[in-house]
Amino acid sequence: MNRKKIELIGDAHISNTVETPLREDAFEKSDNEKIKTIQHHFSEIMKELGLDLTDDSLSGTPYRVAKMYVKELFYGLDPKNRPKISTFDNKYGYQKMLVEHNITIDSACEHHFLPIVGTAHVGYIPKNKVVGLSKINRLVDYYSHRPQVQERLCLQILKDLQQTLDTKDVIVVVNAKHLCVSSRGIKDKSSFTTTIEYGGQFIEPSLRNEFFGMIKKNNE
Ligand SMILES: [Zn+2]
Repeated sequence: MNRKKIELIGDAHISNTVETPLREDAFEKSDNEKIKTIQHHFSEIMKELGLDLTDDSLSGTPYRVAKMYVKELFYGLDPKNRPKISTFDNKYGYQKMLVEHNITIDSACEHHFLPIVGTAHVGYIPKNKVVGLSKINRLVDYYSHRPQVQERLCLQILKDLQQTLDTKDVIVVVNAKHLCVSSRGIKDKSSFTTTIEYGGQFIEPSLRNEFFGMIKKNNE
């Protein structure tokens, strides 16, 4: 891709698949091998920028960045890190909406590798299965920790929950600030982005309004 096209796409934040685009050999190397390679390449980037890596303060940075990428910021790329989510029978027969509010979003945009920070609100109407509440937070955390575009993040959370809970009746709202919008480019410090995805009964405007009423009340 030429530079002009890259710059256009970078600011348009498009994505064309729900799946994160991964190489076939994405997980053939161990985490430690990846850390070693990234450490090497990141030290080259720092050198190219003119930094003196023999300085005490800088010498450990390539390793720290490499470890942070593989083990923290992007741990959610590897399917083996998906949280184990056990479901339980909906024995009490709860059939109304359940909303998990203000789930932390700590992600990174895949076009600039800069943070995306914000919150998610997730609602669902149980059918036969329910999950432990913190499992929803863990799932949001998992999908957030990979290079992302916000639209795809929202969809990946929705689709996983629909499958796990065996119901289409799920709604996901993500409000997030993108550092690639606030710290570079247009440098807008106050704007943020909202994405919403839903299925099943949430097609009904009245149900969506009930959901919005609940998240609004909680955030007043
Ligand atoms: Zn970006």
